[in-house]
Amino acid sequence: MKILITGGAGFIGSHLVRLLLEQGHAVTVLDDLSTGAKAHIEGLPIGLWQADIREKAVTARIAAAHFDAVVHLAAQTMVDASLRDPHFDAEENVIGLVNVLEGARLGGTRRVIFASTAAVYGDVSARDLPVREEQALAPLSFYGMTKVAGEQYLALYKKIFGLDYVVLRFANVYGERQGDRGEGGVISIFAKRVARGSSITIFGDGGQTRDFIYAGDIASGIACALRTEHACRAYNLGTQTELSLNELVRVLGKAAGKALAPAYAAPREGDIYRSALSNAAARRNLGWTPKVTLEEGLRRTYAYVKETAAQ
Ligand code: NAD
Repeated sequence: MKILITGGAGFIGSHLVRLLLEQGHAVTVLDDLSTGAKAHIEGLPIGLWQADIREKAVTARIAAAHFDAVVHLAAQTMVDASLRDPHFDAEENVIGLVNVLEGARLGGTRRVIFASTAAVYGDVSARDLPVREEQALAPLSFYGMTKVAGEQYLALYKKIFGLDYVVLRFANVYGERQGDRGEGGVISIFAKRVARGSSITIFGDGGQTRDFIYAGDIASGIACALRTEHACRAYNLGTQTELSLNELVRVLGKAAGKALAPAYAAPREGDIYRSALSNAAARRNLGWTPKVTLEEGLRRTYAYVKETAAQ
């Protein structure tokens, strides 16, 4: 297939580009390199369009290339930035999406995959964990809200124009080439500090849980969504496992070969306490299962962080 990946020079995109190339697809990346980097995809046999999805001109460029599929990853990904600057968040995550969707529609693209997030659910009560896709959407930030809007745009593009889609709600993603900001960045931040020999601080008592999923598993979930016959709905991509930050630090210590003793500070306002996504629907309909264990994922992440720190 001829596939466009917006945001392909970013963290998750850089894993996806590699997997789709391995699977024999022709890949073009559209990225403005604002949080991504050319180095993430250097030397790979792809087309790179350095462009901003907020610019209306990207629509005509995408349409003219007639992609079979578009994977839309480019976004403003930070909860706190969305609260500080809702205008920027909406331009990136709503206007940017519309420019890409228009290009897909006009170019006869068959399917769009949209990167959504667990943040669309907001704070879910413990009895509803792990969260299923039927859970009411109740975002607590503009970031979560513009992702909900994105999901609804896709549903309406299907209804009005017949454009196929799959929405994928990612849990907290980690792995090589992750930035320090955005979602799931805690592993990247901790790994870099541990590699430098600096201390790490947990906000709260460390009992708070997250569902950490390796970026290579997210890439394979996207590849499954490109093929599935069960399109035009949302799927969670997560491990269905709650991992406390205290446990995370313990396993990271094993990967780094040192016992870590984190400091503890007051919990951050607005942080939810527990989080995990059910992956039953993705396993059933997409034929997807996460394969990389936390130990292996952290080993790879830490090795990458050490290697890049040494450069
Ligand atoms: P990232 O910041 O590494 O990747 C985003 C990419 O989009 C970057 O390469 C950036 O340069 C590019 N980009 C941003 N604005 C752009 C613009 N205006 N025009 C063109 N390119 C632009 O983040 P990521 O973690 O790889 O996230 C990818 C997607 O997955 C995002 O949509 C994010 O909301 C979603 N997501 C990520 C996580 C996570 O834990 N990392 C969790 C849930 C959802």
